[in-house]
Amino acid sequence: MLSLPPLPTYSLTPQAPLLSWIPDLYLALILPVVAYWVVSFIFHFIDEYDLFPQYRLHTPAEVLKRNHVSRWDVFRDVVIQQVIQTAVGLAITIFEPQATIGQDHYNVSVWAQRLRRAQRHIPAVLAFTGLDATSLATKQAAAHPMLSAALNGGSYNLYQQAASGDFVPAFASWELTFAKAIYWFIVPAMQFAFAVLVVDTWQYFWHRFMHMNKWLYTTFHSRHHRLYVPYAYGALYNHPFEGFLLDTLGTGIAYMLAGMTCRQSMWFFTCSTIKTVDDHCGYALPWDPLQHITSNNAGYHDIHHQSWGIKTNFSQPFFTFWDSLLGTKWVGGDVSARYERSRIAAQKKLEQENISHSSPSDSSVANSSPYDSEAQNATSLAKQAQSQLEPSIPEGKAALQALGSRQQILDDQAGGGVEVLLEEAAEEREAQRVLRCSPRKKTVSQTSSASLKGLRDRVNTSLHGKASGVLVESGR
Ligand SMILES: [Zn+2]
Ligand SMILES: [Zn+2]
Repeated sequence: MLSLPPLPTYSLTPQAPLLSWIPDLYLALILPVVAYWVVSFIFHFIDEYDLFPQYRLHTPAEVLKRNHVSRWDVFRDVVIQQVIQTAVGLAITIFEPQATIGQDHYNVSVWAQRLRRAQRHIPAVLAFTGLDATSLATKQAAAHPMLSAALNGGSYNLYQQAASGDFVPAFASWELTFAKAIYWFIVPAMQFAFAVLVVDTWQYFWHRFMHMNKWLYTTFHSRHHRLYVPYAYGALYNHPFEGFLLDTLGTGIAYMLAGMTCRQSMWFFTCSTIKTVDDHCGYALPWDPLQHITSNNAGYHDIHHQSWGIKTNFSQPFFTFWDSLLGTKWVGGDVSARYERSRIAAQKKLEQENISHSSPSDSSVANSSPYDSEAQNATSLAKQAQSQLEPSIPEGKAALQALGSRQQILDDQAGGGVEVLLEEAAEEREAQRVLRCSPRKKTVSQTSSASLKGLRDRVNTSLHGKASGVLVESGR
């Protein structure tokens, strides 16, 4: 057996902080908070000056009219969550060992040794495919000595003088270069990807559970859904317990499972934060790379914030594969008619284009799992709302998704409950009024004002008159 090049000795010394005035452990806690507010401020600035109206998912009027929480309350609760997140982080840093340097060269050599050991299997692998490694190596010996040595099972004729004066085997330069690439780039990239996977998995299942369990939804998660029109700094607007469970614990566990260093965690925590903010920014921006790297983006998550899509699109913040795999992706197709209706109601004007029907095949062909029991669980009020509020878009699974979503809205009485659907009824009536002026678009919805009146009466009865004021108010 050929002897391996020896590993270098090393001595560890404490690592100097990235910024001289703050320890890295604290910087890792502060950076995500700073990133949250910087990115949010940029979107807020874009919002305030309406710089990209063509890419807005919702109009400014919708932000004002449709949300069930004030901007101040959102700001306050986000700060509370960030205080909790930072306090938990500080508690964990007590157990973190002091970061040291001095081991990198040794670690690169460990990878180079692994590469050398791997080369020992080359002759056997080639023999398995019918090639003779020795003759191949001999042919290459003159022109490509390194390739020849690798083909020969890693038998290099390279030596270096050790400190003792003896000559010991040495690594080939390509082995060291490759080992550096593995140590400095490939392994960290895999750790990052693994952590992303952990966060997505953690968040998907907790998030979905929060929607499937009525108590969890009304007690905790409904708070986040008071934002029907999300904006950037509403991303972490949550009940403090939910913020801790989904965001703080989720990223913390991912960081630990991936075995990241403190400096890697700075990247990971900051990227996760920026992606979450971007998913709530309220804009479908063609030039924002974060909206195109993965299939999850502001448009995708916005559907989850609508009264008809709340029980779909649970995946966050990076990828959407859990929704695809487990059948919870919105299948109602094109949502532009639904968005259009909200705009009409909020702004009292209708863009005449871009209303198109979804392909019903998406919905009717799809397996209705996991929404099989939605029709059974829906109250008659939810069914009535569904039958009267649906633009004539989905059937099958999409109808069940929208029905379950509307039942969830009704369940959350503190978040507006039936009043939210009443507002939709008013929006629908307004849409009908505008559409009557546009003969081309008459088929968008068949809902009659008579059936809307039925819903209104029904709701007024169920609220003992409480909601009638809402209808008058929003009955534009
Ligand atoms: Zn949700
Ligand atoms: Zn959200």
